[in-house]
Amino acid sequence: MAAITVRGLTKVYPGGVRALDALGLDVADGEFFALLGPSGCGKTTLLRTIAGLEAASGGTVAFDGGEVTRLPPGRRGVGMVFQDYALFPHMTVLDNIAYPLRVRRRPRADRHARAADAARLLGLAGLEARRPGELSGGQQQRVALARALVAEPRVFLLDEPLSNLDARLRLEARTRLKRLQRDLAITTVFVTHDQAEALALADRIAVMEAGRIRQLGTPEEVFRRPANVFAASFIGSTPMNLLAGTVRDGRVAVAGAELPVPDEARGRLGEGEEIVCGVRPEYLDYASEATEGAFPGIVSVVEHLGGSALVTLDGAGGAVHVVVGEGREPEPGAAGWAVPRPGRVLVYRDG
Ligand code: ADP
Ligand code: MG
Repeated sequence: MAAITVRGLTKVYPGGVRALDALGLDVADGEFFALLGPSGCGKTTLLRTIAGLEAASGGTVAFDGGEVTRLPPGRRGVGMVFQDYALFPHMTVLDNIAYPLRVRRRPRADRHARAADAARLLGLAGLEARRPGELSGGQQQRVALARALVAEPRVFLLDEPLSNLDARLRLEARTRLKRLQRDLAITTVFVTHDQAEALALADRIAVMEAGRIRQLGTPEEVFRRPANVFAASFIGSTPMNLLAGTVRDGRVAVAGAELPVPDEARGRLGEGEEIVCGVRPEYLDYASEATEGAFPGIVSVVEHLGGSALVTLDGAGGAVHVVVGEGREPEPGAAGWAVPRPGRVLVYRDG
C-alpha cells in the first residue's frame, strides 16, 4: 500500500488537447479517494497517467515518495479496473483473474491458488470455469476487480467501474466495493462522473474541471460548502439554487428577500457588488405565510422524490427549489416562501 503524490502533472495529447493542466494531488496511504467531474474533464487521463498507461507531458507521480513517472505500468504495482472491464473473452474467469500473475511469471499452481482466493473474495466461487460471455454484468465487474487485486497492488485505480451496471445492481456493487476497500485498506483512486457515488464512497473527493482540481475535501465539506459555482452546481442530487444577488446597505438583496451577509463573506463584499447566492433545496424550509428573510414565489411544480418532494417556487429572481417533507406538499398555484436555514446560504463572487 502506498501514498500517491502528484505534482504539476500536465498531459497534452498529440493534436494539442491539454487534458491535465499542472495538476497537484496527495492521496494518503489506505485512503478511498474519488475524482469527480463531467465527461472530458481529464479523469481517465489522470488515472492512466498515474498507472503509467499514458506518459506525462510534464510533472511527476510518486508512490510513497519514490518517483514512478518514468516506470512502465508493470513495474508500478498498480491494479486497474477499466470502465468496460477489458476482460479477455476467450479466457475462463480463473485465467482472467490470474492474468497479472502470468505476466509476472509466477508458477502455475501459485497463480491458480491466488486467483481462486481472489475469486472467493469477490463472491465468484463456482464460476471459475466460465467465460466472460457467460456472466452477468455484475459478475463481469467482479472479475475485473478480482483481476486488479490478485497481484496485491500498492495502488488500486478504478475508472467508473459501476457505470455499466443497472441502478439496483450499482447500489449493491457500491456497498460491496466500500466494504472491500475498507477490509483491504488499499489506497484507492476512484473515477466517477456521478456525484452520489463519490459522496457515498470516498474519504475525500477532488472535483475536477478542464484538467484542474476546483475543490478538494471530504464528502461533508464539498456538499455543505461547495467552494465555487462549478462545484456547487455539480454536487447534490437535487440541483443547488444559484440566485443572482446584490449587496445593498450591508445586506444581500436576492430573489425578493433581504438577507444578512453570511459570516464568512463579511468584510469581503463591497456595496453594490453583484454576487451569486447558493443554497441547497435540502437547506430551505417551506412556509405558506410571508416570512422574514425568505424567498417568495408561486408554487409551479411539485415532484415526488419518495419520502419527500421537490417544490419549485417561481419568484422574482427565477425558480427556487425546496425539498418538502412527505405530507407537507403545497398545491400548485399557492403562494409560498422558501426559508433558508441559518448559516446555509453561501455567497459566490465567481458566478
Ligand atoms: P474524462 O475521463 O474525464 O471523460 P478524458 O481524460 O477521457 O476525460 O479526456 C480529457 C480530454 O482529453 C478530452 O478533451 C478528450 O477528448 C481528450 N483525450 C482523451 N484521450 C485522448 C487521446 N488519446 N488523444 C487525444 N485526445 C484525448
Ligand atoms: Mg473517462
